[in-house]
Amino acid sequence: MKWEHEARQVVDAIPVHEIIKNMVIIYAEKIARKNKHSVVELQDVIETRDAYFEWFGQAKIDKIQKAREEGKSDEAIDPMIELNKGPALYTIELCHSRFFGCDRDLINVREVGKKVKEKMEQLHITDILADKACEPLMPHSTLTVSISGCANACTAPESRDVGVHGTAIPMVTDIECSQCGKCAHACLDRIIHYENGKPVINEDFCALCGNCIQVCPTGTIQAKKKGCRIMVGGYFGKWARYGDEIYKVTEESKLYPVLEACVDLVKKEWNEQHEDHFSRIVKRIGVEPIHDYIRKKA
Ligand code: SF4
Ligand code: SF4
Ligand code: SF4
Repeated sequence: MKWEHEARQVVDAIPVHEIIKNMVIIYAEKIARKNKHSVVELQDVIETRDAYFEWFGQAKIDKIQKAREEGKSDEAIDPMIELNKGPALYTIELCHSRFFGCDRDLINVREVGKKVKEKMEQLHITDILADKACEPLMPHSTLTVSISGCANACTAPESRDVGVHGTAIPMVTDIECSQCGKCAHACLDRIIHYENGKPVINEDFCALCGNCIQVCPTGTIQAKKKGCRIMVGGYFGKWARYGDEIYKVTEESKLYPVLEACVDLVKKEWNEQHEDHFSRIVKRIGVEPIHDYIRKKA
């Protein structure tokens, strides 16, 4: 789609991370089509800018603007690059909240990522996996730990060797509800309805993402408990499977004994006769050895 020169200048100046920039361009073109314009005009870009400002919020926009003024690219400030630099047989994935935070994050993925790296180094997972491997090492030989700020799970931690994401159990309190509708709108699982002027949450289907808690202006919906979900043995690819849940809502500190237990499992159960994979070990023998290890350490 063609753009008016002035419109393009405005869109280039919208402070979003570079990784989102192409989304902004596509969104502006969508708005232009909606406004029945054959080229993207200034009005379309202003609507686009307002939508992104509202989505990110002023605090984050200010942070992005500052990084931009300092000439920092996303790559320069991306903690995931630093975490995965150098020879190692583990990969650490972080969701987009790693850049400037996210309105929805329930755990600080940058901090957790750093601690996971320290633990993986301390456990010598690289040497262990290298010695177990029976073929030249390739990227798929690594153990992946995927960390997302919330249960919207932007890094798909359910399908990684070890997955963790923030969780929060919502609870409807006695505080008066203003009936603004924000919680139902924010719930991507569409499991909130209203009865007698109050929200009702279908707990059976709640993803524990905490979106409804974050947006409630009155405090009618609050967190009964906050923490993180920890899963092990997920894999995406030929032997795709979801990871088994070890904890649903627990303290982040429980992640590190789980990592120890996973490495212990690799040491004991990895089949050296053929190229094995952590998820296949979990599929073969289940997660009971992980619970056993944690119980013994406690
Ligand atoms: S996983 Fe949650 S916190 Fe992370 S970027 Fe996605 S929505 Fe934001
Ligand atoms: S925590 Fe549950 S009810 Fe609240 S937005 Fe997420 S899925 Fe919906
Ligand atoms: S967001 Fe809070 S105040 Fe608004 S409808 Fe939901 S519970 Fe009520």
